[in-house]
Amino acid sequence: RHPRLPSLKVSELGDRYFEVIERIDAAAVGAGRASSEVTLVVITKNHPAQLVLDLLELGAKDFGENRDQEAAPKAEQVRATSTVEHRWHFVGQLQSNKVKSALEYSSVLHSLDRESLLQALVKQQISKPLDVFIQLNLTDDPGRGGIEPKNLEGFAEKVLAAPNLNLIGVMGVAALDREPEVDFETIRNASQKLQVLAPGARFISAGMSGDFEKAIAFGATHVRVGTAITGKRNY
Ligand SMILES: *Cc1c(COP(=O)(O)O)cnc(C)c1O
Repeated sequence: RHPRLPSLKVSELGDRYFEVIERIDAAAVGAGRASSEVTLVVITKNHPAQLVLDLLELGAKDFGENRDQEAAPKAEQVRATSTVEHRWHFVGQLQSNKVKSALEYSSVLHSLDRESLLQALVKQQISKPLDVFIQLNLTDDPGRGGIEPKNLEGFAEKVLAAPNLNLIGVMGVAALDREPEVDFETIRNASQKLQVLAPGARFISAGMSGDFEKAIAFGATHVRVGTAITGKRNY
């Protein structure tokens, strides 16, 4: 975990960043888990590359974006400006015609949510297999994005058959109209079923600014935290 840097000028961004880290550590300890099991992915959408550069100085390493149009130039700007090692996580719905672009900077795809995206990914030349989470549909509406939990194993078989993809787990976004614990439990159950099929796919991407502590209690290994760190977005 990143040590607090006493020499750093205290900034509001730094305060919020280190507070979230402390809350993650406390939630992990409270759940009887090691805080090193939880990766903080800072979601930087709708914020400029400079915010990513500031966060790199604070010790952040993992960043997430949900739109390729915004992420591609931002990732390039960060890469051209900083030599500090970092990774990009793609967390939004990825259009098939943006796959090639997104693969140029993304190390992890959290949102493999449909058959057509899988087909587009399979066609790509990827030097090192791409880490992917299967995104679950946690709503009662099959028309919404994501794989329905009952179809998870069938879909996972196809992902496992793709030589250029490395299935690492499941991802979900808790519904707003009920207690997030309901969805975090669904995600955890899905994760357990998936691990019977693919023991290595043990990671869980769940939890955002409003609910990441609860997600950690249900086994989240990757929390995607935006506004609690970055402040309000400039829409
Ligand atoms: C924006 C976003 C987040 C972060 O949301 P906050 O509430 O700002 O923490 C997490 N996951 C996904 C998929 C997002 O699009």
